[in-house]
Amino acid sequence: MTNNSEREWLFIKKIQRKEPELLQSLPRLIARLNSNQSKTNSLQKQLYNVQAGFSGERYIDRYLESLEVPISLIVLTDIHLTLTPGNSFQIDTLILSDRFLLILDVKNIAGNLHFTTNPNQLEQTLSTGEETIMDCPLDQLKTHIYVLQVWLAKRGINVDILGRVIISSKSGRVKEAPENAPIIYRKGLPILLNEMAKLPVIYSQNQLSEISNVIKQSKVVFNPFPLCRHYDIDPTDLKRGQLCPNCFNSMIYKSHKQRQCTSCGLIEPNNYQESLKDWFILVNDSISNRECREFLQLNNKDDAYYALKTLHLNKTGNSVSTRYHWPSGKPFM
Ligand SMILES: [Zn+2]
Repeated sequence: MTNNSEREWLFIKKIQRKEPELLQSLPRLIARLNSNQSKTNSLQKQLYNVQAGFSGERYIDRYLESLEVPISLIVLTDIHLTLTPGNSFQIDTLILSDRFLLILDVKNIAGNLHFTTNPNQLEQTLSTGEETIMDCPLDQLKTHIYVLQVWLAKRGINVDILGRVIISSKSGRVKEAPENAPIIYRKGLPILLNEMAKLPVIYSQNQLSEISNVIKQSKVVFNPFPLCRHYDIDPTDLKRGQLCPNCFNSMIYKSHKQRQCTSCGLIEPNNYQESLKDWFILVNDSISNRECREFLQLNNKDDAYYALKTLHLNKTGNSVSTRYHWPSGKPFM
């Protein structure tokens, strides 16, 4: 084995990570939801978690890119795979090298953190005294390692996978954890990678390419749409018509080209496209002329026909049974 001083020091290639679609679409659901405070609070919490999760992962990506390491590393992100039909799993960061495969479960969690056992859970206490109990990230990491190993084994690739829970928040402090729990802070990453670079070489470049390719080619897209179904919300609880961009109240007809907010008085041009997109994001992947009239609060079927024409939708059926479909796979935002 070569020793570190003889090795070339390398930077990790720029890490690509897709912004979660929920970051753009969950605010649309929150804006359209009629006064159901407990549901709104729970969706706002979910949105906060998606935002915090994504920014924590990005933060670790940028940090990894800034490190020089003595071995070549490949970083795969947004790994969403299907284990069995209807049973998928997601791994945010997987590092591949010729010496190890390492899952990083990034936790952007502030405050004092107690990883307790029996039952396994994480208790967070913020400086304000607020306490939250969450699923144990160590259990989650174990599950990720197990399912990825099983998934690869089913494809004839038998590997050992290592893993760490990494606390990305600067103000996250682990106060209690099981002995030797695989938890590190961000600043522990270079030490960890340098230590792991001393492990013996166990994979050839061909094996690494095979692992990386099979994962990339099998990725499935996480599809929570329509969101009403995903979050168990009755679509009749949604506000109809064009929403005010200022205060999210419904806007009413002012003239053929304009709408006015019933609450703050703002006047805006008609924006059929945004309201129609809300339908596809929140309610259904297809819409009829009648549903369009009702959801957009239009007066007649000609206005609905005109509104539907503003988006490039796919059409099925004839006359009254015509339905317009959002093109499959086309992003909403
Ligand atoms: Zn308004």
